[in-house]
Amino acid sequence: MNYGGRVSAFINKIWSTRMEYLNIEGIVIEVEFKRIKNIYLRVYPPNARVHISAPKGIPIDRVRVFAIDKMDWIHKRIKVVLETENKSFREFVSGEFHWFRGKKYFLNVIYSNHKPRVELVGDEFINLYVKDNATVKQREGVMREFYRNELKCYLPPLIEVWEERLSVKIDCFDIRLMKSIWGSCNVRRRKIMFNLELIKKSDVCIDYIVLHELAHLLERSHNARFKSILDKHMPSWRNVKDELNKFVG
Ligand SMILES: [Zn+2]
Repeated sequence: MNYGGRVSAFINKIWSTRMEYLNIEGIVIEVEFKRIKNIYLRVYPPNARVHISAPKGIPIDRVRVFAIDKMDWIHKRIKVVLETENKSFREFVSGEFHWFRGKKYFLNVIYSNHKPRVELVGDEFINLYVKDNATVKQREGVMREFYRNELKCYLPPLIEVWEERLSVKIDCFDIRLMKSIWGSCNVRRRKIMFNLELIKKSDVCIDYIVLHELAHLLERSHNARFKSILDKHMPSWRNVKDELNKFVG
């Protein structure tokens, strides 16, 4: 048994690393001090977490100077990581991954002369049935139709739950592909617009957007009162919002 050895290795690991954080140009960089000789900089997928490993003995200000010098590269790298992970250019060919309800699925394109359709296989594959001469745009269109139908079915029961919890009632909702917002609420018409891209996000994200938009029926602006409504009904909403904001729409 090397139980003792393992424990001492574990304690050694805790003692031999130390974390600090830098905030440069609004980007949080985690700095891990370790028993190493050089400074290493990495940007990790999926959330473009910026991480520096630095030798134990060097002052944080030296790491800061190092990071400032690399900011151009860091900005570029973050963009690449986020784009690859979230949006990226897709050709709708077999082997690509596509998001659905917060999970990554691999696409299988299956040629068929029947009506184009999409089918989920377990939680790993999305089968996309199209004619063999279908263009990228047409394939994308079939996927979008699938996403739209899924979101259209997913939202009503959720809206009902939040209507009851908040004691509000909406008139109708609509789904649209939007560039920069997840949803909007027309308070006067009691109408909510949801971004089609929402169906790619996890259930808790969708939940938060429904709560957020419905809460606007109680409070129009994002003031303290609005936030207190969110706090009351979803104490973790700030984390969920961060998750949503990492998505480049
Ligand atoms: Zn809002």
